[in-house]
Amino acid sequence: MDSGWPTDRKPQLLFEETGICPICGKKTLKVSVYLYEVSYFGKILLFSGECSSCGYKYRDVRLAESQGPRKITVKVEGERQLRYLLIKSAATAVIIKEREYEMIPGPASTGFITTVEGILHRFKEALNVICSGEGADASVCDAERRWLDRAIEGREKFTMILCDYEGGSAVKGEKEYVTVEPLDEDCKKRKPEWLDRFTLQLG
Ligand SMILES: [Zn+2]
Repeated sequence: MDSGWPTDRKPQLLFEETGICPICGKKTLKVSVYLYEVSYFGKILLFSGECSSCGYKYRDVRLAESQGPRKITVKVEGERQLRYLLIKSAATAVIIKEREYEMIPGPASTGFITTVEGILHRFKEALNVICSGEGADASVCDAERRWLDRAIEGREKFTMILCDYEGGSAVKGEKEYVTVEPLDEDCKKRKPEWLDRFTLQLG
């Protein structure tokens, strides 16, 4: 049971529904919701949506029982914390405080299960996209890339914050390094406006 990855029972289809697409506004968004039981996190919901009109795709993973909006902080001191498993639901912003990196959820945001290291890789991919654009500052890009590489190797200490607006995210780690608090102003000011709209349409 210590393979480090949740692998349990088969997902069970809870319901399928055709709803309004947040992108094109047509009622052609087919959403399927599965209940899945995994190690470490217990019951989770998998959402899969696809719009047959515009091709918009929606993927989300979240705890089946919402924990309410909250801020989860992970103090990363090295390799051990990089291996913490986490659920990042679509309605969650991720911030690396020391570098001012932000992953703010947009309507195309997805939820996924990953590790703290996996989040760093996603930031690195985003950096590569930004830095391949015209006008990117090469020295800034190099410095950020070097920092991310060191962080991925466990050689940087940093603080990772999840602003979880719907309570669907979770981090499985030791309590000395993971704290859970109500959403603070820093998280609230980053909350995207589309979130309320989108949640209503799906619910
Ligand atoms: Zn659409």
